[in-house]
Amino acid sequence: MQSMNKPIVVANWKMNPQSLAEAKRLFDSVGKGLKDIKNTEVVICPPFIYLPLLNNGGRTSIKLGAQDVFWEKKGAFTGEISSKMLKDLGCQYVIIGHSERRRYFNETDEVVNKKLKTALATKLNPILCIGETQQERKKGKTKEILKRQLTNALEKISDFRLHTSDFVIAYEPIWAIGTGKACSPAEAKRAGDFIRSTVSNIYNQKFAENLSILYGGSVNSQNAKPYIFEADFQGLLIGGASLKAKEFIKIVKSVS
Ligand code: PEP
Repeated sequence: MQSMNKPIVVANWKMNPQSLAEAKRLFDSVGKGLKDIKNTEVVICPPFIYLPLLNNGGRTSIKLGAQDVFWEKKGAFTGEISSKMLKDLGCQYVIIGHSERRRYFNETDEVVNKKLKTALATKLNPILCIGETQQERKKGKTKEILKRQLTNALEKISDFRLHTSDFVIAYEPIWAIGTGKACSPAEAKRAGDFIRSTVSNIYNQKFAENLSILYGGSVNSQNAKPYIFEADFQGLLIGGASLKAKEFIKIVKSVS
C-alpha cells in the first residue's frame, strides 16, 4: 500500500532565524538552489511574521506554510492568527499539532481536531503531526498513542473534506526530534504502515493508499533517502537541517 504522490519536503524553521534579513537570505538561497526541481513539492514554514515578506507571488516553486493556526475565524483572541489571514498571505499549508505545540502550549488532541477543521474549511492544506515520546516507545505503546492521536484528530472529519485538500500526515517520533537520533527507517516504516492502516480503518483503503505520510525527526542529507525509497514515506519534515540552505537543498535533491 504505497501512495504514488510526488514527494513533499517541508521545512519547519520554528522560531528561527532571528532577523528578517537572514530569513530572506535563507529563503532566496533555497529558492535558487532548487529552481530546477520539478518533481518534489517543497514547502517552507517560517515564523508568521516573515510570511508576507517571503511571499514572492510564485516566482519560485517553493510553497509557503505556517507553523500553526488558531481555530476561531476572527475576533477577540489576542495574539492569535486565523486561517483566512494565512490564506491571504499566500500560505498553502499549515503544520498542526507539532509536538512542541503539544508540549509547551498544552495542545490537546481536541485542539488539534478544531484546528484541522478550520484549516480544511479555508482550504489550507493541513500537515498533521503525530508521534510518541521515548517513554511511550519504551513501554511498547507507540501504536496505541498513534491510534489515539489519529482517531481524536480526525473525529467528525469526513474523507471527502480531507480529499479536497492536500492533507498530509507527518510521523514525528518525539524522541527523534532535534536530538540527532533519527528513528531507523525500519522502525519508522512500521509506524508509517500502522498509520496508513489506521487511516484505512477510519476511512477506507483507497483514501489511505493515496495519503502522503512524511517522516520527521533528525533528518539530514546523509540519512534522508531510505525514508522515501525503503520505508515507503512520501516525504520529510525537516527542522534543524532546514536552517542551512546547502544542507536543505541536498536533502531535497536526494529524494527528488
Ligand atoms: C521537527 O521539529 O519537526 C523536526 C523534524 O525537527 P528536527 O529535524 O530538527 O529533528
